[in-house]
Amino acid sequence: MTALHLRGVVLPGDDERDLWVVNGRIRTTPVPNAETVVDGGYLLPGFVDAHCHVGIGPEGPVDLETAAAQAETDRDAGTLLLRDCGAPIDTRPLQERLDLPRIVRAGRHIARPKRYLPHLGIDVGDPEQLPAAVAEQAAYGDGWVKLVGDWIDRDRGDLAPLWSDDVLAEAIKVAHDAGARVTAHVFGEDALPGLVNAGIDCVEHGTGLTDGVIAEMARRGTALVPTLINIENFPDIAAKATKYPAYAAHMADLHARAGAMVSAAVEAGVPVYAGTDAGGGIAHGRIVDEITALHRAGMPAEEALGAGSWAARGWLGWSGLEEGSAADLLAFDDDPRKDLTVLRAPRRIILRGRIVG
Ligand SMILES: [Zn+2]
Repeated sequence: MTALHLRGVVLPGDDERDLWVVNGRIRTTPVPNAETVVDGGYLLPGFVDAHCHVGIGPEGPVDLETAAAQAETDRDAGTLLLRDCGAPIDTRPLQERLDLPRIVRAGRHIARPKRYLPHLGIDVGDPEQLPAAVAEQAAYGDGWVKLVGDWIDRDRGDLAPLWSDDVLAEAIKVAHDAGARVTAHVFGEDALPGLVNAGIDCVEHGTGLTDGVIAEMARRGTALVPTLINIENFPDIAAKATKYPAYAAHMADLHARAGAMVSAAVEAGVPVYAGTDAGGGIAHGRIVDEITALHRAGMPAEEALGAGSWAARGWLGWSGLEEGSAADLLAFDDDPRKDLTVLRAPRRIILRGRIVG
């Protein structure tokens, strides 16, 4: 395969530099006979969708072929690394395909009977069995385990935690001992202190975050992936929940406070990353919408861009455009930090050192 040569301002940063790509890796010293494919503009480490579901469609689990098409849609929008935040099907065959984004799998969602969307997760009958279920998913996934932290409790008519604080502490320790990080779906307030104090690594959605919990997350370095474009669906969820007025009112209130919550988390220094929650109610390929939503919620443009690129890559254990890094990058004519709409039309998409768009 011919080596590639690119010249541009390498983000994050302001220096125009030359990069070469050979054998799927970035080189910073000249490679002979390289073909120049980008000459000028801006070079960005590929987008990261930090909360994505390859393998889930609007009707629930999909077949592998449909899951591959979802991953292609993400790739064509420039998303080259996905943290798959829970998938009901085994997507490991997609990790073998060099033309698809890299996928970090969290295994299956861990929930309790009737306490999550049907057919997606593993239902743990006896909540005391959570640590065992976590051990199983830690072994099956790629270093992440996904819990459902709260969901509507139909007897109570409102959101409620699925797990006791004690069992969470034990389960998170099991994951950490196995070398895995843990994250949880949480909409409401009540589940959050137990999860954060148990040492969870990340919170998904986090609409119920209060200033006290935000301060504790900042102190611990607990990440937040708010999935703002999914929170936009809360009024719809509320409107359909006519049988559960308290839940409906709660969801509407969480929605109304979401922007302020993200802005408070950013201000407090919580690491915030861009995740779309693509799969069920959200179409794949919308990472730029989420980066833009983070900016609208108060993240400076460059920080919002990093939340969907270099910062998220670092968090997931991948480097930016440095010597020896994976050659997963995007090229733009104009500076996306000055205008995030630039992100919607990459001039080049390079994945594993190959031009894919
Ligand atoms: Zn999700």
